[in-house]
Amino acid sequence: FSRPNHRPIAAALQQSQNDDFVLEDVPHLTNFLPNLPSYPNPLHSSQAYSIVKNTFVSQEDVVAQNIVIRKDNPRGVHFRRAGPREKVYFKPEEVRACIVTCGGLCPGINTVIREIVCGLNNMYGVEDILGIEEGYRGFYSKNTVRLTPKVVNDIHKRGGTLLRTSRGGHDTQKIVDNIADRGINQVYIIGGDGTQRGAARIYEEVEKRGLHVAVAGIPKTIDNDIAVIDKSFGFDTAVEEAQRAINAAHVEVESVENGVGIVKLMGRYSDRLYKLPSAGFIAMFATLASRDVDCCLIPESPFYLEGRGGLYEFLDQRLKENGHLVIVIAEGAGQEYVAAEVPAVNQKDASGNKLLLDVGPWLSDKIKDHFTKAQKMPINMKYIDPTYMIRAIPSNAADNIYCTLLAHSVVHGAMAGYTGFTVGPVNSRHAYIPISRVTEKQKTVELTGRMWARLLASTNQPSFISSDLEGVVQGIDSLNITSI
Ligand code: ATP
Ligand code: MG
Repeated sequence: FSRPNHRPIAAALQQSQNDDFVLEDVPHLTNFLPNLPSYPNPLHSSQAYSIVKNTFVSQEDVVAQNIVIRKDNPRGVHFRRAGPREKVYFKPEEVRACIVTCGGLCPGINTVIREIVCGLNNMYGVEDILGIEEGYRGFYSKNTVRLTPKVVNDIHKRGGTLLRTSRGGHDTQKIVDNIADRGINQVYIIGGDGTQRGAARIYEEVEKRGLHVAVAGIPKTIDNDIAVIDKSFGFDTAVEEAQRAINAAHVEVESVENGVGIVKLMGRYSDRLYKLPSAGFIAMFATLASRDVDCCLIPESPFYLEGRGGLYEFLDQRLKENGHLVIVIAEGAGQEYVAAEVPAVNQKDASGNKLLLDVGPWLSDKIKDHFTKAQKMPINMKYIDPTYMIRAIPSNAADNIYCTLLAHSVVHGAMAGYTGFTVGPVNSRHAYIPISRVTEKQKTVELTGRMWARLLASTNQPSFISSDLEGVVQGIDSLNITSI
């Protein structure tokens, strides 16, 4: 079929919302500071960049969210391509940048910190970089630490975050007062969905006050549940480490009679009542990668224990066939069952997130009871919860490279005057994405997507989709905006 009518991008941008081309643009400092002077990008004279064929990314370059073009389909949503711009809106010697990390740990945070510092310093000659300690509250309750390439030189080899982290304590007014008082003009914020919501508040307040400050977010979630972007940093490392836990469980259960291994992995919960999303990506990918798993349970796919097509029936059969079995369960799976048996406590963390009930011991007890009481068959149960081990390790090679790209993209964006934005790869090209786009919805495993089908085909486990659950599954899938 013939290609849709491709106009030059410049023309397309001007009429971006009119037809099948949509540009989801990010704010620029000149939107609310129109008279801001610009300067030539120092990369013009950089030894490394001057040999690049096209050193600078054109303002008109965009990245398409729809990579598969179907006949007659609209061209859909596009984002600005990330990368160095010909002009910058900060004189390097006048930049005072700060970096803050909030929320839970994830492999790669230190690499992102390191590469923001080295990127600002090596590429743009920025020397004044501050670390805000212990999350948002550090803006107003702690002294800052000076970050130099020397200080951050080795930190990518360590897990955790050099700057430490916290939950709660976001006070927009106090934070922005502090940014202004300290003369900070670039704010780099590394953290999950809550953190990015906080970053959006800071950007709005900065804009309201007309401050010459670029606010940039680097989305972090070990669960890989950030909408729009291909993958979140630390996810590959997490999958690799999760595989080691699965391997340990497999070795254990293979070595004993009737060994049953359960590995609980990260993956938030699904609260169908409140239509909250869930993400079993780590469990799904670790299962696909390992091949030692008999059954993978994720929050998106409601499972049941008894009756035809249920978990017990499948486990009975597998144990009879192989003499051992391994189950992977994401922490958010089966929450409704645990809630029905454990008195409701409804606890929340300091940021107001609901705390999950522990499904791992619950499932272990259920399966032990099933085999010993109902089947009169003693089993050797091995339960492994590697959550904190996974969160705490340093990032692997692939994630280290990925974190470097993210950090460079965000530095180029802030220097170019973009603000209120996050970065990430969209169809493997790095793009600048409005913060709201990554906080409004989360990515979940699509039960009707190909990757979940691949998993079912690989483990041969039941799909748990009985006729009475089909509506629920479709309901959950309708929440998705991205599938994998
Ligand atoms: P993760 O869930 O991956 O551990 P997160 O960033 O979602 O990371 P949270 O503890 O929810 O972790 O939030 C981190 C920080 O963001 C906290 O300091 C919290 O106060 C702040 N925050 C969360 N939600 C909001 C919001 N809606 N507005 C402003 N700040 C917020
Ligand atoms: Mg969160």
